[in-house]
Amino acid sequence: MPGARPYDPHLRCCDCGRPEPLKAIFTGCPVCGGTKDRGALEVVYDYDWWRGQDLLGRWAGQTSLWGFRELLPLPFDAQPITLVEGGTPLIQLPSDGPGRLWLKDETRNPTGAHKDRFHAVSASMARYLGFRKVTASTTGNHGFSLAAYAARSELDCLIFCDPRAPTVLRRGIQAYGARVATMNPRREQLEWLVRERGWYPSTGMSPMPIATPFGVEGYKTIAYEIFYQFGQRMPSYVVVPVAVGDILYGPWKGFHELRQLGAAGELPKMVAVQSTGCDPIAQGFRAGAQTVPVHQDPQTIALSIGDETASANTLRTLYDSGGTAETVPDAAIIAAMKRLARSGVIAEPAAAASVAAALAMQARGAIGANEDVVCVCTGGGIKWPDHLSLTVEPHSIEDDDPASVRAWIHSFDREIC
Ligand SMILES: *Cc1c(COP(=O)(O)O)cnc(C)c1O
Ligand SMILES: [Zn+2]
Repeated sequence: MPGARPYDPHLRCCDCGRPEPLKAIFTGCPVCGGTKDRGALEVVYDYDWWRGQDLLGRWAGQTSLWGFRELLPLPFDAQPITLVEGGTPLIQLPSDGPGRLWLKDETRNPTGAHKDRFHAVSASMARYLGFRKVTASTTGNHGFSLAAYAARSELDCLIFCDPRAPTVLRRGIQAYGARVATMNPRREQLEWLVRERGWYPSTGMSPMPIATPFGVEGYKTIAYEIFYQFGQRMPSYVVVPVAVGDILYGPWKGFHELRQLGAAGELPKMVAVQSTGCDPIAQGFRAGAQTVPVHQDPQTIALSIGDETASANTLRTLYDSGGTAETVPDAAIIAAMKRLARSGVIAEPAAAASVAAALAMQARGAIGANEDVVCVCTGGGIKWPDHLSLTVEPHSIEDDDPASVRAWIHSFDREIC
């Protein structure tokens, strides 16, 4: 760990460029923020200085998120809150080509989802900024993860939870010692808690209207890791299941920063994946819009990407990277869950949607023979037992009678060696 950076990171408005010091500011840019779509703040660093320090060379071999601490917002003299997140494997998926499919397996994180990268940074910043209470709204994974990091750091935690979230996640949140309010709608409650009672919102980066710019910084490290896992090379596509959009924008910001640090090669095209039953980003993309419309009646089994709208940064990422928006029907998502499980990874529907999209792109010839496609497998399927059941074949017997069990074994094991 280096002792100092000559310039502290600061905040900057994504829309008007206004700089702000690194501080607790949860309503976006003071000049142009205040609406759902404008004035998201992001953290910026002194890239030229770090390039001069050969940060790219120094980062080789990092095995967890905090190994990239030079470009994370937490001041060097502050203690990070960590459960050892990141450092997830890149696994090649069997495929008939063309191109190669890879899985960035975020299910290996401490609470089984990429969200741990978010809250490790966000909760660390909350504590550094002097907050004792943290809150978030969730369809399941986001709140479960924040509760873990709050437990780790003795922060009080209150989660507003979607009634459709699996019971096991609500129990898990409580097991971590957090409180959970299961209710609809949740945004107004969260806003009240933040504005009136001084809680820290561990929410997305875009004002809707409450936001934190810090968590998305954790997602950048996905890009850093992919770059090193390919031997300091960029893949052609990064395929990401998207809800509000931090998981799309974060890695894109990361790839961009790698270039500013001196990395060669073309940046990957970012692909946003949604279900055909809830596709506001794809609608906005097809219309060439600058802001994401609101989907009136979202319907999908992939609850983690079932949000009715998303941040403007999602579209910006697709346009800037030359990427695209893909939609996949729920049936294709279930098929991808099965396929992943048969290759050793149990993913939840949202996570499997990235693989479903990559397979669809491959099938229609959108992927070149020499291209690498990374699917971000955002969350593990064990936490979503109802969806797991959808992928199960009738491969079991419950019977105490040995003769019945042997008859059952004979039914599929016909060869005696
Ligand atoms: C939250 C979540 C997403 C979407 O992340 P956003 O940053 O909200 O776009 C995708 N997949 C899983 C499993 C999630 O939990
Ligand atoms: Zn602004």
